[in-house]
Amino acid sequence: AALDATTRELTERRAHNLGASYRLFYRDPVHLVRGKGQYLWDAEGKKYLDVYNNVASIGHCHPAVVDAVHEQMLQLNTHTRYLHERILDYSEAILATLPPEIDRAMYMCTGSEANDLAIRIARAWSGGTGIIVTQEAYHGTSDLTSGVSPALGSGQPLSSTTRLVNAPDHYRKDDVDLGDWFAAEIQKQIDDMQMHGIKFAGFLADSIFSSDGVLPGDRGFLKKAVEVVHRNGGIFIADEVQPGFARTGETFWGFARHGVVPDIVTTGKPMGNGIPVSGLFARKDVLAAFSDTIPYFNTFGGNPVSMAAAQAVLKVIVGENLQKHSLDVGRQLQDELKTLQDKYDVVGDVRGAGLFIGLELVSDRRLKTPDKVLALDLVEALRHDGVLTSVAGPYGNVLKLRPPLSFQFEDIDWLVGALDRGLSTLTR
Ligand code: PMP
Repeated sequence: AALDATTRELTERRAHNLGASYRLFYRDPVHLVRGKGQYLWDAEGKKYLDVYNNVASIGHCHPAVVDAVHEQMLQLNTHTRYLHERILDYSEAILATLPPEIDRAMYMCTGSEANDLAIRIARAWSGGTGIIVTQEAYHGTSDLTSGVSPALGSGQPLSSTTRLVNAPDHYRKDDVDLGDWFAAEIQKQIDDMQMHGIKFAGFLADSIFSSDGVLPGDRGFLKKAVEVVHRNGGIFIADEVQPGFARTGETFWGFARHGVVPDIVTTGKPMGNGIPVSGLFARKDVLAAFSDTIPYFNTFGGNPVSMAAAQAVLKVIVGENLQKHSLDVGRQLQDELKTLQDKYDVVGDVRGAGLFIGLELVSDRRLKTPDKVLALDLVEALRHDGVLTSVAGPYGNVLKLRPPLSFQFEDIDWLVGALDRGLSTLTR
């Protein structure tokens, strides 16, 4: 269908002013002007259900965050070379959610910066350079982090010290012990590094393997992988940009589902509910090799306004019991998606933890043949039905269902109804 005049005009201005690196979602791009909770509105007043946004993690424009930011902005915003309580109060609160071994906090503005620093710390601590990530991982946009982000595609060269492991795809690897298999994958890559004269520094992973197609796996399966990392003198960096802040329902942090203790935890997106704030949390002995010799100053990182936003987010997660909510609503949503799976052969798999769910589309259920075309067509059909989501995974055939945690039981009907309508039309 032809785009309306405004959409065409804005799309052309984007291409002209921003250039080709700026990719849009949808064949008919969405022009959003307002958000509240799990809902968004476009310029024409059409209402959408947001099933994709983990930045507005406690809900778009949450009044607690808006008020906290506003109040602090009226008072003071400055960098971290002066004393201020907020950064200390927040650090104490957030460190209390982490394993006791992790006892230091540092702040920046994006997940990329957090991972960039984590890699530098891992290298300083281990004396090595080699970093292992999964096949479709995305860890950021800086030079260091884009070099460990195969998700950016073949145009982006990986660093010569980067090694890839296959993701723990429990849907396709259903005939092996996933924990053993994944640990062996990591050992293989450590051995390969050694053969090429590269000293291993660490394993960097998002424990729900979001860009690898949303792979929660059974709780605990990551344990052996982390043991292998430690046995080989490396550190485990848990990238919590995706699974952190109560998202998975079962635990506050994604790695905690596996009962492992990371050496460094990085975060970003959901931490400030839209205010750019990110953090790195580490064991002080791991940090020492870096921080004893190199200063760290991030002009905007940890400023009072960012900290006010982060404090408000944490308070709402606890006060509104959002972790339990994510678990309960996520469970019912998964149940209803499994009913769709009974109805449509093309739904090969439904998996997830809390409100982080992957729905995998296949053209042959027995052979698990990925159906990317159907996935993309379904995303477009959903968009026209007012439901916003997107795809993930190496084959681009996994719908990533990751709404703000304010997603309610009532919203399940809209989402599942739209999926049902879309699948029924597209498979007819
Ligand atoms: N790590 C993961 C797992 C991510 O998903 C992202 C963002 N998509 C990043 C790091 C980078 O975060 P940012 O865009 O805030 O730099």
